[in-house]
Amino acid sequence: MSDSTRNVSADAADGFASRYGREPLGLWSAPGRVNLIGEHTDYNDGFVFPLAIDRRTVVALALRDDGVARVASSFSDDTVEVALADLSPAVLSGWSAYPFGVAWALGQHGADLDALPGFDAYFDSDVPVGAGLSSSAAIESAIGMALNDVWNLDFDRRTLARVGQLAENKAVGAPTGIMDQSASLLGERDAAVFLDCRSLDAEVIPLGFEPAGLELVIIDTNVSHSHATGGYAERRASCEAGAAALHVRSLRDLTVDDLERAEAVLDDVTLRRVRHVVTENARVLDAVRTLREDGPRAIGELLDASHVSMRDDFEISVPELDLAVSTAQRNGALGARMTGGGFGGAAIAVVPSHLVAQLSESVRDAFAAAGYTAPDIFSVQPSEGARAEPSA
Ligand code: ADP
Ligand code: MG
Repeated sequence: MSDSTRNVSADAADGFASRYGREPLGLWSAPGRVNLIGEHTDYNDGFVFPLAIDRRTVVALALRDDGVARVASSFSDDTVEVALADLSPAVLSGWSAYPFGVAWALGQHGADLDALPGFDAYFDSDVPVGAGLSSSAAIESAIGMALNDVWNLDFDRRTLARVGQLAENKAVGAPTGIMDQSASLLGERDAAVFLDCRSLDAEVIPLGFEPAGLELVIIDTNVSHSHATGGYAERRASCEAGAAALHVRSLRDLTVDDLERAEAVLDDVTLRRVRHVVTENARVLDAVRTLREDGPRAIGELLDASHVSMRDDFEISVPELDLAVSTAQRNGALGARMTGGGFGGAAIAVVPSHLVAQLSESVRDAFAAAGYTAPDIFSVQPSEGARAEPSA
């Protein structure tokens, strides 16, 4: 687990200086994210509700007077170099495909890579990698913000989110939606981003966790199952089959009232997959309305219901996630659910601050008693999206 107390900006500036032998021109950062509610709804044209967290990837960057780009990271000893004019997904591989992919994707959106100056960039980060907190969107959004500034591109944040997604889809080759980049770029303190994955409309919704004395606790089970990729593809296929059988473009076009009709048409498994997506979309809308009308303490039961739906209907939970959720619920959480794609990863819980220590201990004890690998448990604060950082 990364250390959230160190000064990542200062470390990025130092890393830049020692790797490149000069001072950076500036520092930019972007956060990881967690999805509060709305799981497996993105590829069904539905709703998601992620928030930016107080774990950030910082890039220190300076321009060069040639067309060469170099990237380096505290994660890796290598410094990777490419000529901007030669950038294409075909020449990219490894971790540098994320930042170089963004430079390439900016070119696809109109930046003239043949004429722009090259750059040296160095990344440091306290976003845990592969824990479902989207370190990938953090690195994409950080370099996107930096290049947008130093190249005077004037792209807005929504465009930068598309740039990050294009990089991830085409340069990295991961078929992801736009949720992660939207959260990382549009997030605000004590707020979450309500995103319509069809229209790409995004609205920042205040959470009110701070005044209510609530914390968002992440319980990373440290479990990752090899069938996650296959399971994901299978769930996607079921959703497509369900939409086709019910003659809609995507499951987004169904409401809870359509489920009776679905029952008559679909086999049991497909029905349950469809029911998860349809009810989950309704829960996201409910969560947004509940926050506005009743405040944050009232969303707990929606989180609980989301977990049950993923466990029983979508069948993407694992015993470790179920134990994390049920133990949190029994120890003061207002609501808890697994988050992310499933088959492992993390659960989240909304918890009154004064109960966090006791709850964490109870979850650790329950995991030990069950013979499971110890989980990593930490609180995150809903935080501001990508930004320029003051020089260290
Ligand atoms: P996550 O759930 O954390 O987004 P991904 O597999 O999507 O997991 O992305 C993680 C990958 O992103 C890493 O394996 C690495 O290639 C790249 N990455 C993320 N952050 C950094 C960083 N600070 N420095 C170098 N590479 C990074
Ligand atoms: Mg990722």
